[in-house]
Amino acid sequence: MPILVMKFGGTSVATLDRIRRAAKRVGREVANGYDVIIIVSAMSGKTNELVGWVEETSPLFDAREYDAVVSSGENVTAGLMALTLQEMDVPARSWQGWQVPVQTTSAHASARIEAIPTDNIMAKFAEGMQVAVVAGFQGISPEGRITTLGRGGSDTTAVAFAAAFGAERCDIYTDVDGVYTTDPRITDKARKLDRIAFEEMLELASLGAKVLQTRSVELAMRYNVRLRVVSSFEEMSDDAGTLVCAEEEIVESNVVAGVAHSRDEAKLTLTDVADKPGIAASIFGPLAEAGVNVDMIVQNISEGGMTDMTFSCPINEVKRAEKALDDARAAGQIDYADLVADTDVAKVSIVGIGMRSHAGVAAKMFQTLRDEGINIKVITTSEIKVSVLIDRKYMELAVQALHDAFGLDKAA
Ligand code: ASP
Ligand code: MG
Repeated sequence: MPILVMKFGGTSVATLDRIRRAAKRVGREVANGYDVIIIVSAMSGKTNELVGWVEETSPLFDAREYDAVVSSGENVTAGLMALTLQEMDVPARSWQGWQVPVQTTSAHASARIEAIPTDNIMAKFAEGMQVAVVAGFQGISPEGRITTLGRGGSDTTAVAFAAAFGAERCDIYTDVDGVYTTDPRITDKARKLDRIAFEEMLELASLGAKVLQTRSVELAMRYNVRLRVVSSFEEMSDDAGTLVCAEEEIVESNVVAGVAHSRDEAKLTLTDVADKPGIAASIFGPLAEAGVNVDMIVQNISEGGMTDMTFSCPINEVKRAEKALDDARAAGQIDYADLVADTDVAKVSIVGIGMRSHAGVAAKMFQTLRDEGINIKVITTSEIKVSVLIDRKYMELAVQALHDAFGLDKAA
């Protein structure tokens, strides 16, 4: 029997009634001739509650016990889903991560999956079981302790199972009906994409489109797992949702697939740093050690041996960045005149695999922003992406203008 992986996110299993609705979808796929592996999240809000309990009990918690607690939300849904299916006369049982076992590293709270043996579940399918319900987000370390994969990690569980079992597809049921050309809250002209390439999804995921955990898209790309993002609140149809797939499966595409934005950015500039070998290392070394996620970096041309260095990072890491640089200066590792922080910036990016074969995409982006009178502070590019840092107050305007300029607006 072909295997299908179906993942249900927190909102899709938020109540017993919703679990029943999800189970009906599973029943339909079983009737279509699939053996189904379901990956479930905790009921929505549950994981946050568990994290809160841990933090209240022990501010400097032992990460192993954190994982023991926060992984438990998924156990509840897995058991309830198996019971619901049994009530529908569908042969099903639940598995917690350690029972499979989902073998992970021992990096608690952010473990990585190392292996998923298939024999256990395959033996049950051979005996006539039709649905395996697996608790997402969790696994077991080499030391035999329960681990979790980081917030949003059940997406990654789902993709890893699809890869391990050679599933035909991995359907991700969530509360949005697919991947959009941009955030529909910013423009009602945002359009749902029928297909998007792994690379594009990866850029959009890491740029702040929170549909899928970034790691899950990386895995899907590596193992060529076709991912479908679908709403569990809509009737099923063949063109439902968005298929995240290999470039070759996308026949016709726009040069730009989507416009992403990230509101919580900050720009920091170090003035008058000596332009000499090792200067970047001496600035970004301490920042990395302090756990600052540096994104864009610009080093100015130097005059008289001195230069300015500008970089961006998430706004909530500015304090940490300032302290790391102050400390490095006090320790004589770097020297600079001033550290200027601009916390009123946002990042807007255009993403598309079509950029590889089309010239003038960046120019068109800059002209569009110029026509709106928006000043660009920092620019970075990659093969399939151009990002700019601008004043936050123009973010919506920039997204809307670019969305229109690159032909992404849906027909009126
Ligand atoms: N329940 C976990 C979380 O809220 C994992 C997941 O839902 O993907 O992060
Ligand atoms: Mg999620």
